[in-house]
Amino acid sequence: MRIGFGYDVHRLVEGRRLVLCGAEIPYELGLLGHSDADVAAHALMDAVLGALALGDIGHLFPDADVRYKNADSMKLLEQVIEKMTNAGYALENLDITIIAEKPKLAPYIVKMRENLAAAFGCELDRVSVKATTEEGLGLGGAGIGANAVVLLKNKQI
Ligand code: MG
Repeated sequence: MRIGFGYDVHRLVEGRRLVLCGAEIPYELGLLGHSDADVAAHALMDAVLGALALGDIGHLFPDADVRYKNADSMKLLEQVIEKMTNAGYALENLDITIIAEKPKLAPYIVKMRENLAAAFGCELDRVSVKATTEEGLGLGGAGIGANAVVLLKNKQI
C-alpha cells in the first residue's frame, strides 16, 4: 500500500468557469489558472503522484507550457492515472475535501464522484468527495481550496 496527500488553492475571479472534479458548477465566479483550474483534480493528481514519489503536477504539466493553457484537468488526471497503472498500482480509495465559502457544492458531489470513478475505472464507493466552509475564517470566499488523500495498492500483491 502507498498513501499520498495533495493540496491546492485557486483564486475566484469573474469571467472564468467553475469546474470541480470535472463538474461544471453554475456560479458568477470561476477559478483562475493556466489550465481550467480544477483545484480538486489538481489536489488529487498531487496525491497520486505523491503516493508514487513521482513529483508534482507543476513539474509534470508546467504553467509555461502552452499545451496546458485552459487544459481539461480531468484529461491531465487520465495521464496521472496512466502513470499509476504503469507503476503497477491501482486505487484502493480516495478522499477529497473541497474548501469553499460559496457556492454550495452539495448538489454536485455525486457528479464529481462519478467523474472520478469513471477516470479511475473503479466503483463509486472507492471515491469520496466532501465540501466544507471555513466559517469565514480562511480563504473567505476569495478562492477555493482542496485537500486529497489516496491509498494505492500494488497490483502484484
Ligand atoms: Mg492548481
